Amino acid sequence: MTEKKAIVYVDMDHVLCDYATGFARHKAEYPNLAFPQSVPGLYESLDPMPDAIESYMWLHEHSKLDVYVLTAPSIKNPHCYAEKRIWVENHLGMAVVQNLIISPHKHLSKGDYLIDDMPSGKGQDRFDGKLILYGSEEFPNWVSVTKYFKSQIEC
Ligand SMILES: [Mg+2]
Repeated sequence: MTEKKAIVYVDMDHVLCDYATGFARHKAEYPNLAFPQSVPGLYESLDPMPDAIESYMWLHEHSKLDVYVLTAPSIKNPHCYAEKRIWVENHLGMAVVQNLIISPHKHLSKGDYLIDDMPSGKGQDRFDGKLILYGSEEFPNWVSVTKYFKSQIEC
């Protein structure tokens, strides 16, 4: 009998992608715009957060886990949908593009864990599984998140 895999969702902005640094860079380029993120190029250009790529791929390749990227779009910026898809291909590869979910309603995705920097706003507070609040005291970075998963699934 095969063991059921735990389903894990991973957010993009401020979790996989360094949105803060990318936004500051974009704002400096377009200082007179109220919403510089509306200029194409921001989402695609974001740097990965420290240890994000290695940690994601470790989760992705783990035999006990089924891992998806779950990101809410900036609905006023249609190009962000394409750029998020391009970012995932560039940094995580086509196998992860297969598992990319772009949804403003995260609670509709059923699973065991959601790694997200926001406790609410896109359905995080109604998610059925455990919310791993990235950036919190308990989970300040990817090292702490990976350590937690190791303790949960490798015992
Ligand atoms: Mg986020």
